[in-house]
Amino acid sequence: MDGLSDLYQEVILDHYRRPRNFGLPPEAERQADGHNPLCGDRVRVAVHLDGGRIAAIGFEGSGCAISTASASLMTEAVRGRTLDEVHALFQRFHDLVTLPAGEAGAEPDGSLGKLEALAGVREFPMRVKCATLAWHTLEAALEGATSAVSTE
Ligand code: ZN
Repeated sequence: MDGLSDLYQEVILDHYRRPRNFGLPPEAERQADGHNPLCGDRVRVAVHLDGGRIAAIGFEGSGCAISTASASLMTEAVRGRTLDEVHALFQRFHDLVTLPAGEAGAEPDGSLGKLEALAGVREFPMRVKCATLAWHTLEAALEGATSAVSTE
């Protein structure tokens, strides 16, 4: 993970070793599966909505440090948010990990909180799919998709 700052590496390793919200909430009524064949990451995301907000969210699966940490950080970031807020957050996160350094939206500015620990993956195009897998899977779950999501 050369290129990631020490602080960011610490956040990623912490969430990889002790993933938050690991396990599916029993009250979840929507879920989806995601697969990143390039890396072998697999994730299942399940959510419970209440009043148009994500009231509970959890994930299961196995994958690399980036995919696991990203899923863990995502669950913390989206809980309590409306679906519109989640879509907007994913868009900002996607910009953060895909836009070339220097472009508007590419630099961490604090607005994404701990999610910004993953900003360095833009230097590693293969890793972008690891970092966004859980988000694509969450979107599929929110859309009520029943089929599996693949990054390919
Ligand atoms: Zn991966």
